[in-house]
Amino acid sequence: MTKIGYFDADVVSPEEIFMAAGFTPIRLLGDPTIEYDKVNEHVPPTHCVWAKNILEQAIRGLNSEIKGVVTSHGCDCTNREFDIWIETVDIDFLFYLNVPLKRDKIALKFFLDDLRELISQIEDGFKIKIQSEKIKESIKLTNQIRRLLKEISEYRSRMILKGSEFHELVKLSQTNDKNYVLDILKKKLKELKNKAPFTEKKMKRILLTGSIIDDTEFLIFLEDKGFQVVADDLCIGSRYFWNTIEEDKDPIVAIAEYHLSKPLYSTKMPSYERFEFLKDLAGNYEVDGIINIAMKFCEPMLYDHPYMNKKFKELEIPYLFIEMSYNREQYKQLSTRFEAFEEII
Ligand code: SF4
Repeated sequence: MTKIGYFDADVVSPEEIFMAAGFTPIRLLGDPTIEYDKVNEHVPPTHCVWAKNILEQAIRGLNSEIKGVVTSHGCDCTNREFDIWIETVDIDFLFYLNVPLKRDKIALKFFLDDLRELISQIEDGFKIKIQSEKIKESIKLTNQIRRLLKEISEYRSRMILKGSEFHELVKLSQTNDKNYVLDILKKKLKELKNKAPFTEKKMKRILLTGSIIDDTEFLIFLEDKGFQVVADDLCIGSRYFWNTIEEDKDPIVAIAEYHLSKPLYSTKMPSYERFEFLKDLAGNYEVDGIINIAMKFCEPMLYDHPYMNKKFKELEIPYLFIEMSYNREQYKQLSTRFEAFEEII
């Protein structure tokens, strides 16, 4: 099986285009168990710990089935890191997808031009032709997956599906062949419909937000501290399936419009738009509190936090902000802060 990997801080990579080109899209994820070694020669110690982790893995060598990598503009860190990828990562096809920060008509045109450039470079690089009909078929498939994930996500709030189990499902959806994913999700939904709520202890209902959180062990750690994630606005979470792509129009336009109309991620401005989405989630899912996690040196999140802190205080919604390194030892070190939060909410 040939794959295209995507390095994406904002989950804006057009998986449907990779699928139409005959590749399985694979989201590149971090590995919190590895040490930073080679990457230290190329980035300063104040570089985002998650992006640094992906680069470390890429310099060491990605899975040989990955024939190309597309990096999307999520934040300035991933933007500048791409130049280092060109120099240090041994892979034939690399493309930087320039996703605009704005969402107006000019931004849409800019994004469309870049998506068309991506298609043209894949066609040239792999000597293939990407058919519009194939992109449409792929959109139908990924939309089915989005709808299933959205339906399944609701079982977290009903205390039937653990937040960590759901997190694993979203990761599985971003890193496997989509027909296989569809099959797994259908089976999961069937199973959940016949399952009773878990009753072992009264868990606090949490809205989880922040930088990318790709280590499911962290959600298991939260569960151990008495929190159930009932809602989120993460890229390994709601942002991956909240909306669907229009199926009855030019597929490239539909993909561009979809990505520029999704709920705002923490890497995008303005913060008040993101706050409105979080506020609605907090109300709709009747959460006891909000946990906002920033990967160490994640500038977009660090800028966002003072505003979020002030706004949630005004609404009297308990809010915990944590900046943390990308390793599991760190969870233990932060235990008391989570325990204290659990006690006050
Ligand atoms: S965690 Fe923050 S700084 Fe790091 S890649 Fe994501 S958005 Fe960028």
